[in-house]
Amino acid sequence: MIIIINKQLLNKIYREIKKHDEIVIARHVGPDPDAVASQLALRDSIRLTFPKKQVYAVGLSVSRFKPYGNLDKVNFQNLNKPLLIVVDVPNMHRIDGIEGLDYSGIIKIDHHPKEDIKAYVEWVDINKSSASQMVAELILDTKLKLDKKVAENLFLGIVADSERFSLKNTTLETFDTVKRLIAESNIDFTSLYDILYTRPFNEHKFIAYITNNLEIDENKLGVIKISDATLREYNVDASTPSNIINSYNFIDEMLVWIFVTEDVKNNQYKISIRSRGPIINEIASHYNGGGHKFASGAKLTNMEDVDKLIKDLSIACREYENR
Ligand code: AMP
Repeated sequence: MIIIINKQLLNKIYREIKKHDEIVIARHVGPDPDAVASQLALRDSIRLTFPKKQVYAVGLSVSRFKPYGNLDKVNFQNLNKPLLIVVDVPNMHRIDGIEGLDYSGIIKIDHHPKEDIKAYVEWVDINKSSASQMVAELILDTKLKLDKKVAENLFLGIVADSERFSLKNTTLETFDTVKRLIAESNIDFTSLYDILYTRPFNEHKFIAYITNNLEIDENKLGVIKISDATLREYNVDASTPSNIINSYNFIDEMLVWIFVTEDVKNNQYKISIRSRGPIINEIASHYNGGGHKFASGAKLTNMEDVDKLIKDLSIACREYENR
C-alpha cells in the first residue's frame, strides 16, 4: 500500500517537473555531502531528461564539494516565477541562496521531520537514509534519466549520510536503492570513497586534537569546545567539526557527543550533536536547532545556553541509561 502511494507521489513530482520550463533547486545552508549531492543529481537528471528546460542549483559554493559539480550563478530577475524544489531542508530560514527569488510554488523532498516549509507537493520520509536516496528513488521510479555523474553523486550522498551504511537510518530499502543505482549506471563505486574520506594531513591532526581533548562525563556525554584559535592552529574552519563528527560513532564509553565550535565570522557557536541512543533533535529544537533523531545541530550566541544544552543532553543520557 505504502509503495503504491509512494509511486503516485513520485509520478506527481515528475509531472510537475515536466510542466515547468524554469526550475530552481535549493538545499540547506552549511551544506553536507547529502545536501549537495541530492541537489546536483536532481538538477543534472532533469537537464538530461529535458534539455530545453532551464534548471539551476543555487546556494553558496563550498570548495570541498568541487568533485560533485558546480552550482549555478543565476540572476533571478531573468526568471519568470520558476518552480522551486527544495531538498534535504525542512525550515524556510535554512534554505540557501533563494533571497529575491519569486517562485510559483515549492516541491519538497526531505528526510527531516517537518518544520515550516509550505510546499504544494511534499515528499517527506524520516525513515529514508538521505535526501540522495529519495532523489535516487525518484529517478529510478519515474522517467527521469540517470547517467554516471548523477549516479555517482547519489551514491556519495547516501554513503555520507548513512556513514557507510552503519547508522540506524540505513534500511533494506537503502541497500535496494543502492543496488539498483549501481546496476543501472555501472559506476565504479569503490573509487568514490576517496572523495568522502581522503583528507589533508592537517585535518587528521585536528581529529587527533579532538580525540585527545574530548571530555566524557559520568552519563556518557562527550563534550568538546573548540575555539577559533584552535581552528586557526590546525588550519581548519568552523564547518570542519561537523564534517568529522560522525567518525566518533564507535567510542564505547560515549552515548551522545557534542562539538561546540566558535564561529567568529558569524558571531555564534556552531553546535553539532550525534547520538547512539537518546533522541536528540527534540532537545536541539529548544536551542535554536533541530535535525534528525540521532544527528542534530544548532546555533547559539552565548555560552550560558551552550552549557544548558550540554546539561540537558547529559540528563537525556542518564535517563536513557536508566530506562
Ligand atoms: P550538522 O551537525 O551540522 O551536520 O547537522 C546535523 C543535522 O542537524 C542536519 O540534518 C542539519 O540539517 C541539522 N541542523 C544543523 N544545524 C541546524 C540548525 N541550526 N537548525 C536546525 N537544524 C539544524
